[in-house]
Amino acid sequence: MAKAWRPGEHGAAALLKTFLGGPVKDYAEQRNMPAVPGTSRLSPHLHFGEISPRQIWHAAPEWRSTQFITEIGWREFAHHLLYHFPRTTNAPLRPDFERFPWRENAADLLAWQHGRTGIPLVDAGMRELWETGWMHNRVRMVVASFLVKNLRMHWLNGARWFWDTLVDADLASNTLGWQWAAGCGADAAPYFRVFNPASQADKFDPQGEYQRRWLGNGPRPAPIVDLKASREEALAAFKTLRS
Ligand SMILES: Cc1cc2nc3c(=O)[nH]c(=O)nc-3n(C[C@H](O)[C@H](O)[C@H](O)COP(=O)(O)OP(=O)(O)OC[C@H]3O[C@@H](n4cnc5c(N)ncnc54)[C@H](O)[C@@H]3O)c2cc1C
Repeated sequence: MAKAWRPGEHGAAALLKTFLGGPVKDYAEQRNMPAVPGTSRLSPHLHFGEISPRQIWHAAPEWRSTQFITEIGWREFAHHLLYHFPRTTNAPLRPDFERFPWRENAADLLAWQHGRTGIPLVDAGMRELWETGWMHNRVRMVVASFLVKNLRMHWLNGARWFWDTLVDADLASNTLGWQWAAGCGADAAPYFRVFNPASQADKFDPQGEYQRRWLGNGPRPAPIVDLKASREEALAAFKTLRS
């Protein structure tokens, strides 16, 4: 943790300076590549008020109409949602999801938390989270989809683990992120859109650099779930909800 972060206003200002001095130019293309330092890493500093969205807006006038500022907008949106729908920290925004047939399986949850699912991109992300308190956004979406769709476990299991382990744990953004992944929130990814962690890895970590960084070259556990079959089961469960 000490290697990864420099808490406080000075640390936040230094990160913003580094980001605006280079990575911001390629943010739109690089923000999805977890092996590359292509995002600002300002999330913990924003959460703890060590830098504010207004400071960022004023420090980056030439980037106001870019994807980077849009992402800051997502954070604002998350806070508006939490204010107007405080129940969403524990309940789905879309009430029909109260009836969703979630699975319960303590061993699968533990495998996911400890990065031992046998699915390389998922395990790499969960280990990055454990070691640094942060996980790349693309990988957060993949590990979340895997938990709520392939393992069909309640999104609150994931939200609670992130809450305990993220250095940027934020009630508003975490709730938004998990309800988005589960398909039960505002502007959510539809439930039938199931991320395939293998094709996500091919697309966003084509050289396997990120996965090697967190997994090393040692032996890997066998997958705890068949990606194709579990996808079908998730879609079938979703159909029962609709009927
Ligand atoms: C399941 C899940 C859970 C998440 N939980 C959290 C959380 O607890 N705390 C948190 O700060 N972010 C959360 N996010 C959003 C996002 O992953 C992080 O904000 C981002 O990875 C932080 O890295 P960065 O500062 O380099 O982001 P950058 O790409 O540099 O973006 C700049 C800032 O915009 C904001 N931002 C970016 N993406 C999002 C987003 N999707 N939603 C809300 N704000 C965003 C953050 O404040 C971020 O620091 C979650 C996403 C998912 C899919």
